[in-house]
Amino acid sequence: MKLLKDRIRKDGKVRAGNVLKVDSFLNHQMDIELFEEIGKEFKRRFADSEITKILTIEASGIGIACIAAQSFHVPVVFAKKNQTKNIAGDVYTSRVESFTHGRVYDIIVSKEYLRPEDKVLIIDDFLANGSALLGLSKLVKDAGATLVGAGIVIEKGFQTGGELVRKSGVRVESLAIIDSMDEETGVHFR
Ligand code: 5GP
Repeated sequence: MKLLKDRIRKDGKVRAGNVLKVDSFLNHQMDIELFEEIGKEFKRRFADSEITKILTIEASGIGIACIAAQSFHVPVVFAKKNQTKNIAGDVYTSRVESFTHGRVYDIIVSKEYLRPEDKVLIIDDFLANGSALLGLSKLVKDAGATLVGAGIVIEKGFQTGGELVRKSGVRVESLAIIDSMDEETGVHFR
């Protein structure tokens, strides 16, 4: 998606540890007009699929998922990050390792909001090692729902997640795939 790639080139900042900061338009301040275009592009790519629900993960996936949902006309459910080990009640859980924070945490979704009849599109901001996406996929599977695919804004193609998740049979549509990046020369797209 050219508009997105141009924006990453212009405003993205490459940081040590293979982290791309996009706080000025995606992860902190949010450019909603760009989000609208992102949402329309996801809709275009998944136009052939019936989708009844969008699933994302707090916090940075929520804004993107909500604007995308205006193109899909379906509810958004976000997985909550749970710090405690005592997970009570009727929830699906899985474990995610945070790429940016190096922490492991549980994510939960109420059984009320993921049903066996749901056809789910997962949306997230980044795909790096794939832990977030695999954790979300497990929630969908545990619910007995159908995973239609995943819409990712930025995939870091030089990390293992994309291959891992695609090999597991999940359709992944990434709007910008980064082949390499460094602090000197910036970002290089596929
Ligand atoms: P994964 O689970 O695929 O390793 O990482 C995905 C999650 O980590 C995303 O939800 C995103 O929040 C965060 N993440 C991974 N890499 C980056 C990055 O380079 N920049 C930013 N801002 N977030 C990242």
